[in-house]
Amino acid sequence: MVCDVFLLNCEGYYKMSEKKEEKKTKSKTVKNDKAESALKTAEKKTTRKTTVKKASKPAETEAAMAEVMVDADGKVSKSVMPERKTRTVKTASKTSKIAKEEKPEAEKKVRKTVKAVKVKKAEEVSAEAPVVEEPVVDLGPRRSIAFIGSECYPFVKTGGLADVMYALPKELVKQNCDVKVILPRYKCIPWKYQEKMVYKGEFYMDLFADGRQFYVGIMEYEWDGVVYDFIDNEEFFASGNPYTNMVDDIPKFCYFAKAALSALLYLDWIPDIIHCHDWQAALVPVYLHTLFENTALANSKTIMTVHNLRFQGIYDLGSVRYWSGLPDYVFNKDALKVNYNDANMLKGGLAYANMITTVSSTYAGEIQTEFYGEGLDAHLRYHSGKLSGIVNGIDCDIWNPSTDQRIYTNYDTEDVIEKKKANKRALQEELGLQVDDSKFVIGLISRLTNQKGLDLVNAIVPQMIDGNTQLVVLGTGDANYEDSFRYYEGAYKGEVCSNIMYDEDRAHRIYAASDALLVPSLFEPCGLTQLIAMRYGTLPIVRETGGLKDTVEPYNMYEDSGNGFTFDGYDAGLLLDAVNRAKTLYFEYRDSFDKMVVRDMQKDVSWEKSAAQYRDLYLRLKP
Ligand code: ADP
Repeated sequence: MVCDVFLLNCEGYYKMSEKKEEKKTKSKTVKNDKAESALKTAEKKTTRKTTVKKASKPAETEAAMAEVMVDADGKVSKSVMPERKTRTVKTASKTSKIAKEEKPEAEKKVRKTVKAVKVKKAEEVSAEAPVVEEPVVDLGPRRSIAFIGSECYPFVKTGGLADVMYALPKELVKQNCDVKVILPRYKCIPWKYQEKMVYKGEFYMDLFADGRQFYVGIMEYEWDGVVYDFIDNEEFFASGNPYTNMVDDIPKFCYFAKAALSALLYLDWIPDIIHCHDWQAALVPVYLHTLFENTALANSKTIMTVHNLRFQGIYDLGSVRYWSGLPDYVFNKDALKVNYNDANMLKGGLAYANMITTVSSTYAGEIQTEFYGEGLDAHLRYHSGKLSGIVNGIDCDIWNPSTDQRIYTNYDTEDVIEKKKANKRALQEELGLQVDDSKFVIGLISRLTNQKGLDLVNAIVPQMIDGNTQLVVLGTGDANYEDSFRYYEGAYKGEVCSNIMYDEDRAHRIYAASDALLVPSLFEPCGLTQLIAMRYGTLPIVRETGGLKDTVEPYNMYEDSGNGFTFDGYDAGLLLDAVNRAKTLYFEYRDSFDKMVVRDMQKDVSWEKSAAQYRDLYLRLKP
């Protein structure tokens, strides 16, 4: 009997792994030994049943449906459509690599052989050419990682998390990792990406405590060596914005966390590491240690990365218990429970993850204090043994002033001083500012929330705008900040321009045209804008907190060193002082200012080093 869609509740996965196990023994020739033994263990433990029902399929995917065989006992097996076959082959070859490369010694030999072949070829071309011995970088054994998060550039971005979800996997692929990124398929993802997604399958999953079933579709997109799997469900992801309000968002991300794990099982892609990002993915480690503890995924290790501790996913305990379908015992004070009767999804993720990281070392320390801990400082101190900080980088292909198509004039370290002036004049013209390249132009590109130190900026605009200085703001957020920046634009016509909008292209042009960029945050887990600014030769003016402290070395006039201007206390006077120090250097010691511009452009702000640190962490978790 053939039916086109199968209805699978969580229990169903155990049976599915049994069937897949049988199928594998017959057809696959190469396997990951560890994954295989994990599957066998899951198989032994399981005693649960599979439910199979029909469901309607979306018209767009009808042609590509996987067929599901249901035998006389009601057991499920899938006949693989051509598309799935390709994936299976890929997976097999990837796992074979993993199996092979688990022996570092053997891997080194393979690398040396490859190199020897290269040298031989070179000799054939020119017998006299000297053979240059390149050092062989040992990247260690190959690891597979599933990234689970709620946003990713260029599909959907509201802040720095999206940049990280795009750039880190891309760099990890270069560093001997297989990466799959799992994201919600929001309706707002531009059609140019949606139309290229490939249907990978669908199933039904239970979620709420009442056993109601939910559709899970999987749409895949491969780009730059990274596989993106989008979880499809109109009921949860049809709204225009990824985040709306807690009453919608909490069930949405309960669904997403469970569907992401279920999709990994469905695709038979068992990663070494499951890397979860922020509260939207925080239930993943919790599900893994509860409802999925008898599945093939049980051997995968989890990392919970906190990109911003302020957002935790807190809601009434009873509702979260109902929406998540999680067992009662996780709702205790050491895991999900907070306050009198609330559940905190991030807190649960932190408790159950094998490792916690945050996006800078300073922030990793700060969040264990009451001021920065957002109510979770004691919980984080308790888990400090598994907490560390790895600073973010930026994608230096996207953020590259010498190739950036969005800026007016490209430049590099050789011609930055002159070309930056050209960019400045063009931006002044575009924004209706007084066109004069001798003015000191300060940029501010930010979400407009109180995290970003905007109260300090608002307090000093009148002193900052002195006839020689211009301020360009780009951001959206809280109405009070949007309004105050609109007010300043009106009050200082031609000298202040407030772009109350989200505009990627304009952001690039402001980075390229400004002399300095303000980042006076109250707290800043890492911050990307100061890194981008440095890459564009724009000097950051930052408060010494979180990643800002870790990435911007203060200017030292005696040694002519440093990358920007810094201040410590959260105080408008101190911010003004830092701005004035920047201006003094610009107007009176231009040579030193220009040297710092070049120094900043040369600073390594790429992902290379940080991705290597993540890779080391993965290897420590799964030696
Ligand atoms: P956060 O994640 O707290 O918002 P980050 O500094 O980590 O802050 O990342 C902000 C990212 O969002 C940067 O890539 C920045 O260029 C971008 N960004 C912020 N606001 C805007 C905006 N209004 N228009 C375009 N890009 C923006």
